[in-house]
Amino acid sequence: MKELGQFDYVIIGAGTAGCLLANRLSKDPTVKVALLEAGGDDNYLWIRVPVGYLYCIGNPRTDWCFSTAAEAGLQGRVIRYPRGRVLGGSSSINGMIYMRGQREDYDGWCAGDGYGANPGWGWDEVLPYFTRHEDYFAGADEVHGAGNEWRVEPPRVRWDILDAFRAAAAEQGIPNRSDFNRGDNLGCGYFEVNQKRGVRWNTVTAFLKPIRARANLAVFTHTLVRCLNFEGKRCSGAAVTIGAAADAIGAESTITAARSVILAAGTVATPQILQLSGIGAPEALQAQGIDVLHPLPGVGCNLQDHLQLRMAFKVTGVRTLNSMAHSRWRQAAMVLEYLLRRSGPLSMSPSQLGAFACSGVDVARANLEYHVQPLSLDSFGEPLHRFDAFTASVCNLRPSSRGTIELLSPDPFAAPKIAPNYLSTAEDRAVAARALRLTRRIVASPALARYVPQEFRPGIEFQSDAELADAAGTIGTTIFHPVGSAKMGPARDPMAVVDCELRVHGIAGLRVVDASVMPTITSGNTNSPTLMIAEKGAEFIQRRE
Ligand SMILES: Cc1cc2nc3c(=O)[nH]c(=O)nc-3n(C[C@H](O)[C@H](O)[C@H](O)COP(=O)(O)OP(=O)(O)OC[C@H]3O[C@@H](n4cnc5c(N)ncnc54)[C@H](O)[C@@H]3O)c2cc1C
Repeated sequence: MKELGQFDYVIIGAGTAGCLLANRLSKDPTVKVALLEAGGDDNYLWIRVPVGYLYCIGNPRTDWCFSTAAEAGLQGRVIRYPRGRVLGGSSSINGMIYMRGQREDYDGWCAGDGYGANPGWGWDEVLPYFTRHEDYFAGADEVHGAGNEWRVEPPRVRWDILDAFRAAAAEQGIPNRSDFNRGDNLGCGYFEVNQKRGVRWNTVTAFLKPIRARANLAVFTHTLVRCLNFEGKRCSGAAVTIGAAADAIGAESTITAARSVILAAGTVATPQILQLSGIGAPEALQAQGIDVLHPLPGVGCNLQDHLQLRMAFKVTGVRTLNSMAHSRWRQAAMVLEYLLRRSGPLSMSPSQLGAFACSGVDVARANLEYHVQPLSLDSFGEPLHRFDAFTASVCNLRPSSRGTIELLSPDPFAAPKIAPNYLSTAEDRAVAARALRLTRRIVASPALARYVPQEFRPGIEFQSDAELADAAGTIGTTIFHPVGSAKMGPARDPMAVVDCELRVHGIAGLRVVDASVMPTITSGNTNSPTLMIAEKGAEFIQRRE
């Protein structure tokens, strides 16, 4: 098949970062930009309707349907590891929660971890890159932007059970709060979401659709990048398969980048593509029969994620989504409410109430995040339980466990080995035990007593620290925030993959601009931090090339 063509910039992956990059780079009509996406378009009902989140996960129309390796810390379990495979990437299937994290996360990136600084990444410096694309419902102020592409709205549904949890959290010293995005997120309140009038606002709607007609932008869907091409140590383009499905049937082609290639394929695929292209730990590449183009041992290392511990409680005397979803007339009422007012349970993603708390008095800033849901299920993709219940999911925001993404095969269509190594440090097990205890204290508070909450997961038989840490392994699962597998850091950091302007160390014409560059995970959900990275990345590219 003939070449896809020559472009100035080739962006690999049309996800959260890729769509914003395409918008910013193609703004200059004198440059030609290509955006390559393995998945299809985002024209799909369950992407638009927020509750469709439940039907996008585990669905090959929208999800890569990855799984982890068997995890020792999860009692040997293999868990699903959803990643968006569609225009918009994970922003098309995510929970829509708008969250930046904490000031100290970014100040920590900027200071570095002993090998030197990453100048320009402190909170005060990154804040303008959050607001540059923000459209905050309440208007602009010193930390929010308005009138830009990325819509942020309050939720359109409330639940008595969540209001009671919020009151119970206050009884345990976790104050009420309405805005989590001012650099310090301690407190409890309803999450603000990336929606417009009850419809998901993904990065396609925000950044791609408005500019799709630009003559200098070409978007290629169903186009899977197999590996990067090089002239010496300069990245010159990519080898692709068009019409690619998981079974590798498709036409092979190439694409050329005159100025640079930008990898925005996300935390799993970015290190995989680098490794397939001969950039990574030499022994691991050679074990797969791949010639080493450039040794960078940090590729695929430093994987970090938030492990959510899903504690579930039966309740009485209050309605939850469980019983509503199993009643035909309530289903009809929910559909009607959504059609007429774009509100009600269909306008919600599972997590509406959030809380940020400290796991102990010795912790200086919130290190736990709660996602409280008016529902319960065995796992996402499974039906809701038939009895009324709520789930208080809690995660350690700054885990010390580190995982890896490794090739299992030189075949670009084969999933890599994903090994997050959850709960692999004593510190993470201790925080998990404390987190479960704090949840029990909140749930036992007077504000929830009228609903007689009964813990059924993990169960009150788990009491000692060791029992609770093991129980965390049985109820823990990803909250979908993998980051860090192509870490930013100075060249003298042996594990750094990109420098502070996101250029791959030792390779010309190649940047990584996605969630994989985060040196440490942010203290919150990771979509909007990724957009901030893309906003800065676009500026670096335009300034330097
Ligand atoms: C189920 C779920 C719920 C989440 N909930 C929230 C939330 O509520 N709030 C929040 O802030 N964050 C949430 N997140 C996390 C957030 O969405 C991600 O951190 C963010 O989308 C990462 O952006 P990215 O650009 O790095 O990768 P992605 O958005 O995943 O984009 C990568 C893109 O690259 C494409 N790609 C991969 N490999 C190739 C290849 N070989 N060739 C061509 N294209 C390729 C993929 O198909 C994808 O479109 C959630 C994530 C998931 C999966």
